[in-house]
Amino acid sequence: SQEPAPRPGKGPRLRAALEGIPSYVPGRPAGEGPVTYKLSSNENPYPPLPGVLQTAISAADSLNRYPDLSCSALVAELAERFAVPVSHVATGTGSVGVAQQLVQATAGPGDEVIYAWRSFEAYPIITQISGATSVRVPLTAAEEHDLPAMADAVTDRTRLIFVCTPNNPTGTVTRRAELERFLDRVPQDVLVVIDEAYREFVRDPQAPDGIALYRERPNVCVLRTFSKAYGLAGLRVGFAVAHEPVAEALRKTAVPFGVSQIAQNAAIASLRAESALLERVAELVAERQRVSAALAAQGWSVPASQANFVWFRLGEDTMAFAAACEAAGVTVRPFAGEGVRATVGEPAANDILLRTAEAFLAERS
Ligand code: PMP
Repeated sequence: SQEPAPRPGKGPRLRAALEGIPSYVPGRPAGEGPVTYKLSSNENPYPPLPGVLQTAISAADSLNRYPDLSCSALVAELAERFAVPVSHVATGTGSVGVAQQLVQATAGPGDEVIYAWRSFEAYPIITQISGATSVRVPLTAAEEHDLPAMADAVTDRTRLIFVCTPNNPTGTVTRRAELERFLDRVPQDVLVVIDEAYREFVRDPQAPDGIALYRERPNVCVLRTFSKAYGLAGLRVGFAVAHEPVAEALRKTAVPFGVSQIAQNAAIASLRAESALLERVAELVAERQRVSAALAAQGWSVPASQANFVWFRLGEDTMAFAAACEAAGVTVRPFAGEGVRATVGEPAANDILLRTAEAFLAERS
């Protein structure tokens, strides 16, 4: 009889699919200098509204209890807000959690997940974890989704397509008409996830409204979050609006009790304080316009951003620019060899970014 083949290493056998998964790189925290701001994670610079904080904290005296498993009050509030059936709303641990559930629900070994690249860095990670294969379709020269090429990339094995609009990290949006032409070409049995994490910052009238597209198309699902415009990144609440079978699959794939009661309460309070929060969003949008105009005046060509960040395509100069920003007092997010994403933050932080960008360009030319 044959000896069993020795197993390499001593630990438990892990799935081969996990090998080589890049780790998710969080934005670096603000540095330790006298003037430091964090512009590395597309966060909202405003602290929670006092009323939201109060409501959130009111859940703290029942922390010995599990939260509402189905987030029923929050789901009801979201369903009303978007005029969709309650059964079409599913919440999760941040929209990245919901994105992971969507991949788990649709794709496994042998299946393909299509997304633009560069885009949100979690897409390759959650795809690889599921055992499915990533199909990356390069952005156009204008840093936009190449939707015709993404439609061409669909095969019999395609199970899910992410469309990130505005796209992280380039800030570019897809146009409604182009997205509709794309959706017309995608087979009905392929789930298209429109990731609108930055939707509230969009001002381009040609940009799509994912919820409107979802209403007409059973294979479209929209991903939104409380982390960005609503300023609750630390609480981890995201949600999807999807038709019944997909929403039901999200309820099945959810980590039980994955959204704390504090988070649920804060999300509800945020929806009720929406007008105050959207005023802050308007201020950030005004800052985005100011930053974009100033960069253009300096001679930078950055893509027109519809999100709360701007993208500098810097290639070899990426790490040098990130270091210059850090030295000047703002931490940004470099993607080595590609470019730097800088969040639009408080005006003083944006001023530091602009001064650094101007000096960097002068030095380079
Ligand atoms: N989608 C996009 C495009 C993002 O940029 C992010 C956050 N960086 C997320 C989803 C996830 O955000 P959260 O999990 O905080 O909702």
